[in-house]
Amino acid sequence: MARGMLPSSAMARSQPLAPTGSPRVARGGRTAAAQTAAPLVPPRPTIPKLRQAAAGCRACHLWKRGTQTVFGEGSSRSRVMFVGEQPGNREDVEGRPFVGPAGRLFDASLERAGIDRAQVYVTNVVKHFKWEPRGKRRIHQKPNAVEIAACRPWLEAEIAVVLPSVLVCLGATAAQALLGRSFRVSRERGRFVPSALAPRVIATVHPSSLLRAPDEATRRAETARFVADLRKVAGAIRG
Ligand code: SF4
Repeated sequence: MARGMLPSSAMARSQPLAPTGSPRVARGGRTAAAQTAAPLVPPRPTIPKLRQAAAGCRACHLWKRGTQTVFGEGSSRSRVMFVGEQPGNREDVEGRPFVGPAGRLFDASLERAGIDRAQVYVTNVVKHFKWEPRGKRRIHQKPNAVEIAACRPWLEAEIAVVLPSVLVCLGATAAQALLGRSFRVSRERGRFVPSALAPRVIATVHPSSLLRAPDEATRRAETARFVADLRKVAGAIRG
């Protein structure tokens, strides 16, 4: 299959998006344009073209809160793609995914699992940092279904360009966005599941959850489970 073309079956499995520019009936009978980045996705996309187009995305309101669009990063020939939820505080400042504390833990876990970070593509289901102020701090807020749907065309385009052999959902937001609302990471993590998105698809926890462990012993144990899941990914890449 040509890069840049998402399998039609994968599209069929996607959460439905309102067609570009189609009206939606809002409360009170008024109509509102659907929020979707779809019109911004360039024809014959490449990762650099997509990144450039996404830099000016205003398809949902999150661009007002974030410093910049944080697009995916990695080679378009990567065999594995990791999909997280959204950029965090550090990623928002630097404009790169997985560079904050969770990203460093992710890097270390990849290394323990024998996966070369330089060989993977990393991205998020939502490309702007959603946060709320708490004193001087910016506290992460989970993206909602409208924001995820608005941003989805960017992720679909990334998958279509990279065509990963293995797609890994990191955390519940990514897993439910890509595998369905009923998917439970707690129940189904570390198992390859059937999906048209890629030949092998698997979900595990987001590395930020390891940082929230209540004590050091739990953090070590959960990190070891995370690395064990990544070793399955490593095996799938080799296989
Ligand atoms: Fe566009 Fe996604 Fe940012 Fe919303 S979160 S403005 S859809 S890039």
